[in-house]
Amino acid sequence: MKSDIKLIDSKGKRLDGRKFDELRKIKIEAGVLHRAEGSCYLEWGENKILAAVYGPREAIPKHTQNPLRAIVKARYNMAAFSVEDRKRPGPDRRSREISKVISEALENIILTEKYPRASIDVNIEVLDAEAGTRCAGLTAAGVALADAGIPMKDIPASCAAGKIEDQVVLDLGKEEDNYGNADLPIAISPRSGEVLLLQMDGHLTEDEFNKALNLAINGCKIVSDIQKKALLDKYQPALEVD
Ligand code: UDP
Repeated sequence: MKSDIKLIDSKGKRLDGRKFDELRKIKIEAGVLHRAEGSCYLEWGENKILAAVYGPREAIPKHTQNPLRAIVKARYNMAAFSVEDRKRPGPDRRSREISKVISEALENIILTEKYPRASIDVNIEVLDAEAGTRCAGLTAAGVALADAGIPMKDIPASCAAGKIEDQVVLDLGKEEDNYGNADLPIAISPRSGEVLLLQMDGHLTEDEFNKALNLAINGCKIVSDIQKKALLDKYQPALEVD
């Protein structure tokens, strides 16, 4: 969408003062819900997200069971009050798509073969939305899964890069998402670099795509450090007592 809004000023600063390769402020807390096996509360800019993990438990109905591995059911939901124009409650096309791509990303990093016939349910509730909620949700889900003690190859980290005013930048904010040219959300397994999710909205040249991908991968590594710190904040005190 074209607009008269200037997304980058003459000094290269973005609307919220960030440089091209800067993430919004991220705050993560692990283990916030006592009924869930694992949980996470995450703030990413103005996004506020809760993730809760239940299971592994017997997959119901039975015909959904896989005799060789667990199924992973991620459910991304936006609260009606999370966006400017109240959102109609319940699943829509967009939330079904996001649930599907997040489920597939998580299936590729969880050691699902350890839990045949089981279901691992991951609920992602967006309480406040300000662009980038699928990445923030997946990042919160990674921490909640680790908090639940679900065995994984690594803790998945997610982040997007995009293009605004013909420049490739990290982590689009709301106006940047609305009026920018492209958005490239990804998720990776930080240690191996394996890409677990990659979507693209808008247009990028091959060169811009490579730049955006590298920027997003670096962003994921920063996100990964914040995830690990949140888990250490919760579990280190207990380890020190033992
Ligand atoms: N959004 C909204 N109403 C909706 C869906 C999305 O206002 O029904 C806003 C919300 O702030 C969201 C942003 O549009 O974060 C970008 O949505 P997109 O589909 O690109 O997904 P996201 O960037 O959140 O992963």
